Amino acid sequence: MIQISGESGGGQLLRSALSLSMVTGQPFRMTNIRGKRPKPGLMRQHLTCVKAAAEVCDAAVDGAELGSVELVFAPARVRAGDYAFSIGSGGSTTLVFQTLLPALLMTDGPSTLRIEGGTHNPMAPPFEFIAQCFLPQLHGLGVKVSVALEKHGFMQAGGGVLTAVVSPIKKLQKLKLLERGELLENFGRVIHAHLHREIAEREIATASALLEWPQDRMELRYANDSTGPGNALLLGVRFANVCEISTGIAQVGKSSESVATGAAKGLRSYLASSAPVGVHLADQLLLPMALAGGGKFATLSISNHSRTNMALIEKFLPVRFEVEEADAGVKCVTVHPAS
Ligand code: ATP
Repeated sequence: MIQISGESGGGQLLRSALSLSMVTGQPFRMTNIRGKRPKPGLMRQHLTCVKAAAEVCDAAVDGAELGSVELVFAPARVRAGDYAFSIGSGGSTTLVFQTLLPALLMTDGPSTLRIEGGTHNPMAPPFEFIAQCFLPQLHGLGVKVSVALEKHGFMQAGGGVLTAVVSPIKKLQKLKLLERGELLENFGRVIHAHLHREIAEREIATASALLEWPQDRMELRYANDSTGPGNALLLGVRFANVCEISTGIAQVGKSSESVATGAAKGLRSYLASSAPVGVHLADQLLLPMALAGGGKFATLSISNHSRTNMALIEKFLPVRFEVEEADAGVKCVTVHPAS
């Protein structure tokens, strides 16, 4: 039984442990789950991940309750199949998808997923980040997965739907992502549901001014399918080898200007470096790269998410991570087979 203290991490540490446990068949006990968060323990979206993971691999689970700070998860065999999960709140569908994906890739048949909840959430990859930034890198490793946004969902109402089709793979290829390649396009979009149009227009005006992009290049898309109100600003830059999206999610009490400024600053700091892998993509690529048994990427900086994720992966898989300072503002992350 692998023992993990969840104190230094958040929900991601738990989700990575679930993915790794499903893939390797090793059981784990996590104590002090989300120990330093204002409300520690399992929240609804974390619990959905635990229950979804348990269903996919017939796991024996202890502690799968709201607020629980300790969880024991003992997987059996991962089964390919057609799965549907509902978070029952606006919690992130993309994080549930990322939790299940590694195990579904390692089964012996195709699977489909239908996940209901939020598709554009604060502190989680929006659907477009999965489709345009994360999955293209996995496609480069040989993975065959497609996702579709069937319905938009925002906090608090949720009701969004992400679907996915996953084909199994025998062996992932090694990632090598050290250069961005040629700049292909910049893009900006506001996805907007059941709120005053002015909110989206002010975001577009602020983001265009900060990035010096023409306002008419920013798209305003109405998500009339959304059950509840919401607004997401996506600012993207696509290079030949990688795509980065910086996101701002409107929240009560936050002005349009501060949503747009946060997203524009995120993109500007990415553009100020030459590293291909943004801070969020970095922590999300560690696990697939480790499953391949080797690989290397250059990123801007090593976040706490990346640090805790590397330490966790080393507990489950026979790999070792190395982080080196490359040029100014560029770190290289390499995963080696453990010696
Ligand atoms: P907690 O509530 O404990 O913080 P959580 O379940 O909300 O947990 P985190 O542990 O913070 O989640 O993990 C969030 C994940 O979402 C990380 O992989 C992070 O890189 C990713 N993420 C957060 N914001 C973005 C964003 N704007 N774009 C892409 N990915 C993001």
